Amino acid sequence: MKVINTVAALKSLLGPIRSAQQKIALVPTMGALHKGHVSLIEVAQQHAEVVVCSIFVNPTQFTDPKDLEKYPRPLEHDMAMLEQCGCDIVFMPSVKEMYPGPENWHIDLGPAEFLLEGEFRRGHYQGVTQIVKKLFDVVSPDIAFFGQKDFQQVLMIQQMVSYFNLSVQIITCPIIREEDGLAMSSRNIHLNAQDRQNALVLSRALYNVKDHFDLGRIPELEAKARQMIEATQGVKLDYFVIVDGLTLEPAELPYGKQLVALVAAKVGETRLIDNMILAEQ
Ligand code: AMP
Repeated sequence: MKVINTVAALKSLLGPIRSAQQKIALVPTMGALHKGHVSLIEVAQQHAEVVVCSIFVNPTQFTDPKDLEKYPRPLEHDMAMLEQCGCDIVFMPSVKEMYPGPENWHIDLGPAEFLLEGEFRRGHYQGVTQIVKKLFDVVSPDIAFFGQKDFQQVLMIQQMVSYFNLSVQIITCPIIREEDGLAMSSRNIHLNAQDRQNALVLSRALYNVKDHFDLGRIPELEAKARQMIEATQGVKLDYFVIVDGLTLEPAELPYGKQLVALVAAKVGETRLIDNMILAEQ
């Protein structure tokens, strides 16, 4: 496995690979890797000859400086995980490498930018698309892999790809969960034992909606899920919604491609998100 820290070194490593017409896949991460990240790399390996995993805690997407400061950075653990899953190249640039000068990034991500996560974390998706565009420019991947765990993020990245008319293919991978249902997240490490228990209400509420899903009962199911979460001590609900998977607007019938339930809540001091697809056509 090659570990690369500069844009120039990565470009010169990938040049000959591209000339040899080998497919290059990119899996962008912020490190503190878990089985969810590994699953992305494993799917990427099935689609491309060379897999690049980037580890970069991108400052421009953090809307809370404390969240950025305490974001976990277990480097040795990450390297061991990447070695073990057979990742070919790790790209781990410094902040200066990715942001050599001041920048004023802003692109039109459509109305969904300001809903849900965009409402609670203003500017978050500008930062996400800014770094993903930079990574796409450096790696020029044929395919890039993202987790459904960050449902709205995938929509925003697809929006950015069409805004710049990029030729990269975006593939969304399923959410990997702990055995008890909690969606894996780098932030789970911040949960104490009680928080960890309380956090289960998020996936339970989602499964409850999915298990009882009925197009005619959407408001009732949303209300029940909110009630379950709000009744859990130590959990502060930001939103639980059932929405159209393309617009993120409240579900209307007949629905478009997908209906999805999305949830965000603060569990103790840690903000968690999760989601579940309820219907697809
Ligand atoms: P992050 O390091 O949190 O920025 O995540 C890097 C990538 O891994 C993103 O595309 C996430 O959506 C994805 N990811 C995070 N958690 C999971 C999970 N539990 N299952 C699948 N993919 C995930």
